[in-house]
Amino acid sequence: ATMPPLLAAIANAGRHGVLVKSAVVMERLGTITRVAFDKTGTLTRGTPELAEIRSVSDDYDTDETLRLAATAEHPSEHPLARAIVRAARDRGLQLPLVDDFTARPGRGVTACAEGRSIEVCSPSALAEPCAADTAAANAIVEFHARGQTVVVILIDARPAGVAAIRDQPRRDAAVAVSACEAVTGTAPVVLTGDSAVTARQLAAQVGITDVRAGLLPDDKVGAVHELQTAGADVAVVGDGINDAPALAVADVGIAMGGAGSDLTLQTADAVVIGDELTSVPTILDLARRARRIVI
Ligand code: ADP
Ligand code: MG
Repeated sequence: ATMPPLLAAIANAGRHGVLVKSAVVMERLGTITRVAFDKTGTLTRGTPELAEIRSVSDDYDTDETLRLAATAEHPSEHPLARAIVRAARDRGLQLPLVDDFTARPGRGVTACAEGRSIEVCSPSALAEPCAADTAAANAIVEFHARGQTVVVILIDARPAGVAAIRDQPRRDAAVAVSACEAVTGTAPVVLTGDSAVTARQLAAQVGITDVRAGLLPDDKVGAVHELQTAGADVAVVGDGINDAPALAVADVGIAMGGAGSDLTLQTADAVVIGDELTSVPTILDLARRARRIVI
């Protein structure tokens, strides 16, 4: 017996490394006209490296700043957190346990250790007095200009250091982007919580010019609604907890399985199990073909 086209397409998607959760999803994949990619961990490899950490306070040298930053980041599954923890381990720094930990998706983390409060966050999440710190502000501008992701380390609510994190595009990101454009007939978009300067440099490397940066998780939802209001059927591709709300409102939410968070994998309609971003255009194309057979 021959399989119905949608089931055959689901089996075929599986062979291309994508778990499509239902026939309805398979059908919707065939009508997608716009693809929105998250940046960190989706267009990039998700294994970023600490490029530089600079002390901006007389009270904490770079190693002490890195040790405390890594302590606060230790419970986090964010790719930036893993880069900071790895760098601390590489320098042989011992990390104490944290008493308290809160992740704020799209912003950073806060924790307590050794009786001090530690915060590692995006420059855009800084409160006024911290943002006014000259040494921190100079480092932020300098690191952004290099196209690197910047996080600020606050100890007891004062800037102690600024870190620059280098992230490489996935090997197949540019190919995946142009293939999505070929299949849908529209240019893909980047939705990111990172700064505009950094995001534009990465986007340019993979062939995307439409960049929406500095977005908190709910802003990503707003961006998806905007594309939908403009008439597009939108697929969102993401990996982090910060992407879960956008995946939920997308016509199809696609999670990168590799290092994706549990919540993201559950929320998504489809999961890229293999580590290839080109699986995304491949299944969009496959879904379109299946649709033509069904209709
Ligand atoms: P993206 O949308 O590119 O995947 P996120 O929304 O996860 O990025 O993060 C946006 C910004 O928030 C990061 O560039 C970083 O500055 C900050 N951030 C988020 N999570 C963390 C974390 N665990 N540690 C430090 N900074 C973080
Ligand atoms: Mg991400």
